[in-house]
Amino acid sequence: MEKNGRVEKLCEVCGKSFIANKYRPNQQVCSSLECQYKRQLENMKAWRDANPNYFKYKESQDKSWKQACRERSLDWRRKHKEYLQLYREANKERHREYMRDYMKQYRQKKKKDQEASQKDID
Ligand SMILES: [Zn+2]
Repeated sequence: MEKNGRVEKLCEVCGKSFIANKYRPNQQVCSSLECQYKRQLENMKAWRDANPNYFKYKESQDKSWKQACRERSLDWRRKHKEYLQLYREANKERHREYMRDYMKQYRQKKKKDQEASQKDID
């Protein structure tokens, strides 16, 4: 059935008629959230039924245990590197603050020393 050049279809989920999306002429489910959600669940279930060993297969892919360990350790190192970078970044700021405080104390001490030495002169 055509309506203003667009195809009217019956929703596979709720059975109501709907106008297919112009960009998705093969649309078989109306655009109601409930139907879209049900459609997604069905798609997932259908996919899982068609690929029952997919996840098991991924786990037992012919990678040797050693290689898996190596990759895990590389992964750890990569993450750790990021962490170290973040740590360094954080400490840069801390170091700056530390130096600022240090210089402040240093100047105060110097001033006190100067005052003391001036008193000595007086
Ligand atoms: Zn529907």
